[in-house]
Amino acid sequence: MRQKPTPREMRVLRAVEDGCSLKVAAERLGIPVSQVSHILSSLYTRLKIKDLSTSYHTRKDRRRMAVSICKREGWWDIVPEEEFLTTWEGGHALIVEYGDCEFYGRCQCGKKFGMVTPDRFTDGCFSGKWERHVMRDL
Ligand SMILES: [Zn+2]
Repeated sequence: MRQKPTPREMRVLRAVEDGCSLKVAAERLGIPVSQVSHILSSLYTRLKIKDLSTSYHTRKDRRRMAVSICKREGWWDIVPEEEFLTTWEGGHALIVEYGDCEFYGRCQCGKKFGMVTPDRFTDGCFSGKWERHVMRDL
C-alpha cells in the first residue's frame, strides 16, 4: 500500500512533469533548488520508487513513474492548493565560509566543494559543484 503524497510533493512533481531541470522547477515554484531535490527524494521514497541509478535518463524515468503512479491512484487531480512554505531544515543549501584568507564552499549536508583564494572568488565559484551534487541526489 502506497502512501499518498503530500500537496507539497505533488506541486513539485507537477513542476517537473515536463522533464525540466531542477533549476527551472525551482524558479517556477519560487523555492531553492535544494528544496526541490529534497522534496522529490522524499516523494520517491513515499511512492517506493527505488534509487537504481543516478543517471540523467533514469532521473527522468523516475519522474515519469511518479507521475503515472499518482495518476493511476487518482491523486493527480485532487491536490489542494497550499501556500508553499520553504524550509531549509535537513536540506542541501550551499554554504560559503571565509577562512584565514580564503573561501571554503560546502553543502549543508557536509559535502565539501574546495577552497578558493579571494582574488579568484566569485559569486558562482562553488555553485557548479554544488548544483551537480544536488542533481546527483535525485
Ligand atoms: Zn548536500
